[in-house]
Amino acid sequence: MKALAKKALGAKEQNSELPANILAKPIVISRDQHPISRKDIAEPALKVLYRLHNAGYEAYLVGGCVRDLLLGLKPKDFDVATNASPEQVHKLFRNCRLVGRRFRLAHIMFGREVIEVATFRGHHDDETEEQKHAKRDAQGMLVRDNVYGTIEEDAQRRDFTVNALYYNIADFAIYDFANGVRDIETGVLRMIGDAETRYREDPVRMLRAIRFATKLSMRMDDSVAQPIKEHAALLQNIPPARLFEECLKLFTAGKALANFEMLSDYHLFQQLFPLLKSYLQAPDEAPYQMIRQTFADTDSRIQQGLSITPAYLFAALLWWPLQARMEQLMFESGLPPIDAMNIAAADVWGRQVQTVSVPKRFTIPAREIWQMQQRFERAKGKRVQTLLGHPRFRAAYDFLLLRAATATPLERKQLTAQAEFWTEQQKGHSPSSPAAHDNAAPARKKRGRRGGRRRGGPRKKPSGDTPKS
Ligand code: ATP
Ligand code: MG
Repeated sequence: MKALAKKALGAKEQNSELPANILAKPIVISRDQHPISRKDIAEPALKVLYRLHNAGYEAYLVGGCVRDLLLGLKPKDFDVATNASPEQVHKLFRNCRLVGRRFRLAHIMFGREVIEVATFRGHHDDETEEQKHAKRDAQGMLVRDNVYGTIEEDAQRRDFTVNALYYNIADFAIYDFANGVRDIETGVLRMIGDAETRYREDPVRMLRAIRFATKLSMRMDDSVAQPIKEHAALLQNIPPARLFEECLKLFTAGKALANFEMLSDYHLFQQLFPLLKSYLQAPDEAPYQMIRQTFADTDSRIQQGLSITPAYLFAALLWWPLQARMEQLMFESGLPPIDAMNIAAADVWGRQVQTVSVPKRFTIPAREIWQMQQRFERAKGKRVQTLLGHPRFRAAYDFLLLRAATATPLERKQLTAQAEFWTEQQKGHSPSSPAAHDNAAPARKKRGRRGGRRRGGPRKKPSGDTPKS
């Protein structure tokens, strides 16, 4: 794309009234000068683009999908921008739902695939300063945002220059409003407008900056990187459910380790996981090693095409805070380990969901993975078979391996022996007790949360969203 870069670099001078990086006129890159072909675009997205176009509306692919196609990556989703209002879009498609309170969007459903169609967003130029002010909270965050506008205005509201690229179905050209193509080619992540202001408007952009830097192998421009540490605490204003969605994007897309390291460097990880903050200071110790290894393993499973589940990921991240709380409960109140774990688990989740709220469908299996660690220690006789048949066995066994691999030298021997026992049990049929566990107190009967307690019955498929193994 050398030719494109030259063209972009030679683009018009900026108009001083426009936000930094926004061009007075877009650079138009015609079909013969860029590599994006209609073959690269998912069928449902093409259908939406053509239906809008044939009805006389403007229709563009926009954002990450255009950026990813230019980089030769497979887009995760295809987003469409149009001058048709959501109601006009709704009239054109039977399979359409209007969603969103803050900003109305049309979702066009094609089986499990959803194409999001957004009407160009505008400025609030016609408003008084008070009206503008009323829509921002004390930290400067936008709380309402529903004015439609032109494509130029729409481009200005996007976050990074590489995300302000539009592929026009009318002429198959790319419209570049912010020198995004140049930035793709030179590998620099730049913000549209003033980065600090844009972070204040929406602090999630700090997480997005890191995610795009690692995903796209781009360098954050100094102006993008520099304000992050100082503004990291603004993430406290973001609803925990939104931060959970961002965490999934950060940690389940193959760049978990790189994101973890960069997020920690920029003090963002500490905001998402305050319970882990103290461990980050001690990179040679077991808790840090476990966090790091969890992310490394997640990436390597994705690389190998194996499934992953947020339940396992969160179980691993919160294991050491759980241990700390359990020890405190056992020491202060003399609680037995099983009871201590139940109470500690409730405490740890209670604190975690204040920043990143993990849905119950993941916290429940995560707790089971934890409880199985205790059951692994004690299982004897028939209980061994029961555990082997448990829907969470595989994840819990992997978790035991992870604990053994990252344990302190003192604990490593015992955990390795346990892990070996369970490795053997999966191969053989001997239901004998673990040699390393002569302390085997009779395991308490525990309530099976899902699928009930199954004694040697047939193995049930895990019921999580993306079962591990
Ligand atoms: P990916 O799909 O790989 O996560 P993306 O850039 O497509 O990356 P989306 O969250 O799908 O990210 O958003 C689509 C587009 O919407 C972005 O490319 C960007 O133009 C715009 N956008 C999304 N979130 C924001 C935000 N917080 N602030 C400004 N613009 C945003
Ligand atoms: Mg996207």
